[in-house]
Amino acid sequence: MFCMKAIENRLPDYHIHTPLCGHAGGEFEEYVLSAREAGLPEMGFADHLPLFHIDDPTLCMSHEDLPVYIEKVQRLQQKHDDYPVRLGIEADYIRAHLDDVAEVLARYQFDYIYGSVHFVGGWGFDQSRFKFEFERRDINDVYREYFGLVMEAAGTGLFDIMTHLDVVKKYGHRPSQDLSGLYEQVGETLARSGVAIELNSSGLTKPVAEIYPGLELLKVMRRHGVPITFGSDSHKPTQVGRHFDRLLQLARDAGYTDYVRFAGRKRIPMPLPSPDADG
Ligand SMILES: [Zn+2]
Ligand SMILES: [Zn+2]
Repeated sequence: MFCMKAIENRLPDYHIHTPLCGHAGGEFEEYVLSAREAGLPEMGFADHLPLFHIDDPTLCMSHEDLPVYIEKVQRLQQKHDDYPVRLGIEADYIRAHLDDVAEVLARYQFDYIYGSVHFVGGWGFDQSRFKFEFERRDINDVYREYFGLVMEAAGTGLFDIMTHLDVVKKYGHRPSQDLSGLYEQVGETLARSGVAIELNSSGLTKPVAEIYPGLELLKVMRRHGVPITFGSDSHKPTQVGRHFDRLLQLARDAGYTDYVRFAGRKRIPMPLPSPDADG
């Protein structure tokens, strides 16, 4: 009984990669076992959807591997039929390939679709090999461009959750101007678009050493009523559910009392666990 309560008091991890993306370790099932062992109430795979604008096997699964991914997750759902294993995907927003992405996403029945912005005008800004480009640009403009794309992506209606909302800060580059007006606009746009956002703990282990999104931006989202989910962005089985106590604390600090789970792309509202029994 006591044990059941502890399990219910933890949070689902919806952002889990697999070896198919070319930069994650472990086996599919190890991620499920890791989530179960950690006592998470649900877990969900969300590996990188194939990209259309570049061919790089270190960034995402290949087009041929997409059906393999779906099948592997479905097989695990059958094997672990006493535990919710969700089928998600992380899809990049690339304006020129919106139709291609929509067409691929429509082929499968996902539980949720993450929208992410990893490219600003073709620049893969969150890859360490391209971070030198930050030194050549005006950081305020980079932020404006980045959040402009996030708003565009949310407006497409293709995505359920916008992931790592302020990942543009990954290497610690901060705007020198006050961008609170822009963040208001992001909050309004996301609320109007009906997307949720993710609290992503992977930023804690990056140079910025912060959760995505930061507290100020999250407070804006809260004010506009944008719902939240939780993700570790695991690329190793041992990373599943990591720093979720910090995510829960941040959600509470921003004023959230609820979060959402997803099944068949429908939101299921849930109360946040109590702070003294977090996970
Ligand atoms: Zn990845
Ligand atoms: Zn990502």
